Amino acid sequence: MNKIFCVEDEENIRELVEYTLTNVGYDVKGFSCAKDFFEEIKVSSPTLILLDIMLPDSDGISILSELRHDNSTKDIPVIMLTAKSGQMDKIKGLNLGADDYITKPFDIMELVARINAVIRRIPKKEKSKEYSYKEISIDPVSRKVTAGNDEITLTYKEFELLYTLIVNKGIVLSRETLMLKVWETDFEGETRTVDVHIRSLRQKLGQFGEYIQTIRNVGYKVG
Ligand code: CA
Repeated sequence: MNKIFCVEDEENIRELVEYTLTNVGYDVKGFSCAKDFFEEIKVSSPTLILLDIMLPDSDGISILSELRHDNSTKDIPVIMLTAKSGQMDKIKGLNLGADDYITKPFDIMELVARINAVIRRIPKKEKSKEYSYKEISIDPVSRKVTAGNDEITLTYKEFELLYTLIVNKGIVLSRETLMLKVWETDFEGETRTVDVHIRSLRQKLGQFGEYIQTIRNVGYKVG
């Protein structure tokens, strides 16, 4: 069962989140302060963390930064809960690697939908470190990419883009999702960046470039 930690000092919000997420099948643990949260995360690892910004003994930004600098927690998805949308823009600008943001007061079912979406995007852990699709294989550790018999040199973002598509093979990824995953931003209007990178990626993959399919009005997929 997917475990969710919710760090939120406002009791009514925390209880609503705990109650709702439990009802939809998550194992939820709420924390009213950073101290309790850090004690727990040392001993158990959640699937996802909901993180409030203003807390009595710390703030969500420091907590997020601490999580991202620790190897054991750096890959755990985090959704930030913010009180004001202005605050949200500022936090997004910091690019600390939160997976999503939601402004309070939020619709609880909207939060559930966001959580489900983030969890769906978590790459499945496979035995091999190498990911592949037909003749294309990609190793996230050595960052080596081969297409057919050729080794392909990609830029950092092209690599991330191909990796994301292959890890999610069979799934159509919208430009917004790719923006969020690869560029860690969802600023509208920048999604053209995705198209530009897809184009150069296809070129570099040569005859195998066609494995990256354009899904009209939606986005891209492999497989
Ligand atoms: Ca708060």
